[in-house]
Amino acid sequence: MLNPNAYALGANRSCIRELFEYGNARAAIVGRENVYDYSLGNPSIPSPREVNETICKVIAEMDSLAVHGYTSAIGDLATRTAIAEDLNSRYNAGVKPEELFIGSGAAPELVAVLHALTTPGSEILAIAPYFPEYKPFAESAGAIFKVVPPDIPDFQINMEKLEAMLTPNTAAIIINSPNNPSGVVYTRQTLQELGQLLTKKSEQYGHPIYLISDEPYRELAYDGVEVPFVPTLYPNTVVCYSYSKSLSLPGERIGYIYVPGQAADSKALYAAIAGAARACGHVCAPSLWQKVIARCTHLRPDLNAYDRNRKLLYEKLTAMGYEMAKPDGAFYLFIKAPGGDANAFSEKAKQKDLLLVPGDGFGCPGYFRICYCVSYEMIQKSLPVFAELIKE
Ligand code: PLP
Repeated sequence: MLNPNAYALGANRSCIRELFEYGNARAAIVGRENVYDYSLGNPSIPSPREVNETICKVIAEMDSLAVHGYTSAIGDLATRTAIAEDLNSRYNAGVKPEELFIGSGAAPELVAVLHALTTPGSEILAIAPYFPEYKPFAESAGAIFKVVPPDIPDFQINMEKLEAMLTPNTAAIIINSPNNPSGVVYTRQTLQELGQLLTKKSEQYGHPIYLISDEPYRELAYDGVEVPFVPTLYPNTVVCYSYSKSLSLPGERIGYIYVPGQAADSKALYAAIAGAARACGHVCAPSLWQKVIARCTHLRPDLNAYDRNRKLLYEKLTAMGYEMAKPDGAFYLFIKAPGGDANAFSEKAKQKDLLLVPGDGFGCPGYFRICYCVSYEMIQKSLPVFAELIKE
């Protein structure tokens, strides 16, 4: 007999994928240039040139068997050492190579961490708006997935609402800053308050409540806005980092998990993550990419193209009367749907070949998401459609 949950997940495409496929079908009919597709978060700036040069160097300089062979399951020591050095130079965080686990991007890293931290009946909380995959990730681990209502209109964290949802069964909270879909960066004050609340409740319940910090967008912050390093504010943090967006490598599958030495039961937790990854079929992260990352930890994305898109959209759309939180990071805007019904609004936009993702799937009805890793020209051409829609 088939597993009904697995079947449901595989058979029903996500709303984002549906829209993306619809956009491709429309492009075949009306021309790619006439479809304004804001659906999918696929980076639109190329990886830094040094990344490609490093691939060639690694292949030319290193033994082919080592480049393409299995590595240890936790990842090459050289890669973990390079990442630890980079983190320490930026955050003075005391990261050690043995606290890092090289994973295949944030998604499988989150799955491993969620499996490691939960037993059947454990509760996992996400803060709306949240990345929709958290729900199947948490439920596949046998956990109960709960959503803390959004803190409108700023999309920080409403501590009272969060506190009301904590129970002795709460195993962990997942946060994501810079955020998909809101583009908001949690402030130092928000994270400090969160740390204080979790410290208080952990003491009350007699066990740690872990904070899972999902960080594919850490390097994507604009105007010098601070993205605090969460483990320095709350020690019981597990970081799931990815190079998918920071180096525009989403198809290559590379990132890391960081379990700080000062986290409660740190060594056991690290072992449980390694064990959970093993049980999910993790063998090792792509070996060539481990070698490349070992030499590229200093590289940061050139955000100019995203920043230009962000400014154009934010300025023009707010001038038209659209409302949204200030988008300081990632490459998303999360906009209040005029009229209040985001599904109806997105449907109307779709009729004009403007593809917007309704916020329901992110736990935040009444808003829609724009992903602005697209061309500047497409944004310019789409602006009159936004203007028409808000007038209607
Ligand atoms: N978490 C968030 C918030 C994301 O937006 C994404 C991808 O878009 C992921 C995790 C998964 O990233 P990765 O490609 O590293 O698995």
